[in-house]
Amino acid sequence: MERFSPIWRKEAPSEGVSETIIEKVSTFLSGYESLTLELREKSIRELLIELGEPAESIPQAVLQKRVSKPAGTQQMGARTNRSRRNQADAPQDPREQTVATLSQATQARHTQKSTNRSKRVNGTLDSSVQIIPGIGPQNAKALEKQGVYAIRDFLYYYPRRYDDYSKFKPINKLIPGETVSIVSVVYSVETFTRGRYQITEAWIGDGTGKMRISWFNQPWIANQLKVEQTFVFSGKVDTYLGKPLMSAPDFEQADQENLNTGRIVPVYPVNANLRQNYLRRMMFNTVRYWAETLEEFIPEDVLESADLLPLSNAIEQVHFPDSDSMLALAQRRLAFNEIFLMQLNVLSQKRTWKAVSANKFRLDDEQMNHWTDQLPYQLTGAQWKTLNEIRGDIDSGQPMNRLIQGDVGSGKTVVALLAAMIVSHAGGQSALMAPTSILAEQHYRTFTRLLEQTQGQDWSPSFSADRVALLVGSTPEAEKRIIREKLASGETLIVIGTHALLEDPVQFRNLELVVIDEQHRFGVEQRAILRAKGTSPHLAVMTATPIPRSLALTIYGDLDLSVIDEMPVGRLPIKTYVMDSLARERVYRLISNEIACGHQAFIIYPLVESGEDESKEGSAAVESWETLQKAVFPDNRVALLHGRMKGEEKDNILEAFRRKEYDILVSTSVIEVGVDIPNATVMLIEGADRFGLAQLHQFRGRVGRGADQAYCILVPEKDSTFENERLTAMTQTNDGFKLAEIDLNQRGPGDFLGERQSGFMDLKMASLTDARLIELARIEAEKIFAEDPELNQEAHAALKKRLTENQTKTLGEAS
Ligand code: ADP
Ligand code: MG
Repeated sequence: MERFSPIWRKEAPSEGVSETIIEKVSTFLSGYESLTLELREKSIRELLIELGEPAESIPQAVLQKRVSKPAGTQQMGARTNRSRRNQADAPQDPREQTVATLSQATQARHTQKSTNRSKRVNGTLDSSVQIIPGIGPQNAKALEKQGVYAIRDFLYYYPRRYDDYSKFKPINKLIPGETVSIVSVVYSVETFTRGRYQITEAWIGDGTGKMRISWFNQPWIANQLKVEQTFVFSGKVDTYLGKPLMSAPDFEQADQENLNTGRIVPVYPVNANLRQNYLRRMMFNTVRYWAETLEEFIPEDVLESADLLPLSNAIEQVHFPDSDSMLALAQRRLAFNEIFLMQLNVLSQKRTWKAVSANKFRLDDEQMNHWTDQLPYQLTGAQWKTLNEIRGDIDSGQPMNRLIQGDVGSGKTVVALLAAMIVSHAGGQSALMAPTSILAEQHYRTFTRLLEQTQGQDWSPSFSADRVALLVGSTPEAEKRIIREKLASGETLIVIGTHALLEDPVQFRNLELVVIDEQHRFGVEQRAILRAKGTSPHLAVMTATPIPRSLALTIYGDLDLSVIDEMPVGRLPIKTYVMDSLARERVYRLISNEIACGHQAFIIYPLVESGEDESKEGSAAVESWETLQKAVFPDNRVALLHGRMKGEEKDNILEAFRRKEYDILVSTSVIEVGVDIPNATVMLIEGADRFGLAQLHQFRGRVGRGADQAYCILVPEKDSTFENERLTAMTQTNDGFKLAEIDLNQRGPGDFLGERQSGFMDLKMASLTDARLIELARIEAEKIFAEDPELNQEAHAALKKRLTENQTKTLGEAS
């Protein structure tokens, strides 16, 4: 307090605090450090009264020394804590007997119920952080940079990691390499210069031994360490000539609330204007005063059945955990929040959508079979299942909202096109949007081929390839105008295109079906724009990034889910090998052999890492391409594709590759998802250890699309990563869903989803949790929703409030 006083004194005038008050507070705080604990409490109490607070309104919490601990926690803190106070208040509480058998979360809930909550006198959780003593305009600005404006934001500003300094040890028991705290007296401090360094060195001791600690270029440390006083030092133990030693440990005077030492210490994300120790101190004060005012919004029965910590407790513990196990419980609770709220959002979104009506489209089985008989192949069982689910949806009178998930190459396109044909058969218009023109053209070609095959059948209204249009960015303006006219008049029944479809002048007469391919490539708004071009059209979104079912149900809870989990028959599983760079010659031989058989090959190079010179992007690919063409495959035609090329240029090269004008395509990771070149049989991935599992699987999906045996060769950059778990997983399965599961387990849901659904939701804590918790949160949310969808029950009032607050921040899925 005493040290904080001069800082505050500087900031206070700019916060409008009067000179008299500044004087009073400063006087009171001078000499504070030398007071005993009791006297400190007394002096603060007096100060508050002096400042005009009525004595009875001074919250008890002011006198608390530590963040409260739930009852029954094994660690007995050295200081008073709320649970012990509660025991004193109600010593006969019969629950005390059973506490030992209850979970820590349950105990915390019980403790909380009996807590007498003090009301905050000034401000609310939505007040600016500037009302927190010690946070002035400058620091508030630094916090704003981190997205923290209100006190509530600050409470949800979670530590990035923790340093466990909670293990105190005597000096003679120190083991090199371990991270510990020691309580020691300072014997001597001195700063001297050695070469370009200023070294501050202190000798400390605790009765069991002596040791040396030192700092480089931080001469001010010498003023902070006071000889003959006791400090807590926390850090990693080193040795020098067999003697223990610590370099630049964190330290604090022993009689303080040890925030920076002696406990599990939170480490926050900071920026240049925000110091870690300052932030920690401010957080400590904030949590202590404000955490308990957070309103619990999860209904009691959910807290019980999911065995969750109360919100206030979780916030306290996530910042200043009493133990590892309390920290884990706090993280679990906060992760639950995120998933639970998201799920409720998604469910109410779905309900809203279901409330409107949509036109019905139906095609009888006989006609359907007529069409599918014309396909050059038989639909797989999974394709049929999905097609029939779609048929049910579009004939239901409510708009379809369906996610079609299918591994790469599972044949999603044809299902979408058949759906469009059903709609158009009855005169409705369909739009299919793909992320790149090459994909749009590919779909267009598949479609016109399909139409040619079904020509002359019992088809009404007369429907031919000229009622299908392709609209991409590079479509000439004159042609675009004609397409737009035909869409507006209803003459064109199906349009396939890219973002160009979103343009304002593109209007439909009766848009009844919207299909979005590679949906993760589009933003929520873009999907909404296309939908808005019709009145409640049916919607299908397609994705090739497999997500385990339980997760998909949570994230895409507002969509119905179809999974194409079966590959077309006759496809040989791709053979995948991990090879070290020495075996590259063999790989080149394999490529030569495949080319000799009339096949083609891809060779992928990783992008230059971000942060390096961007103009160098793709340089590895460019250089290698030259070598490959000149030295390795002089008799073959090698094409090059990289990210610095324009979209059109890229498309042209891919087209030429498709037309077999090249044998080998050297590319950076820009090679587009969804590209279908069945003649390619080899996928060589250089620097494979640099790619994520999902991406590797996508690359691999570019081959093995025809009837011939295909190969995927993974060459890690560093031979030491030969054993790379991810790469091994690739060799073990071709199943994207299995790989997604592995990926999920390796990275945790937050990272896993963050990458795929970036910007989609605010999963701060959920990355630390596991898939089981996600499932649990979903089930609990569904239970509540089934019983009280509008959250009108008394018990759900707080939840409803929280959800409306959140709605502006978190968007529901798909469009
Ligand atoms: P994706 O699901 O990755 O979008 P596509 O729809 O591009 O896959 O289909 C991949 C390839 O499989 C295409 O060449 C397509 O013609 C072919 N295909 C689709 N369905 C079948 C099937 N039932 N049997 C055989 N080949 C099929
Ligand atoms: Mg596709």
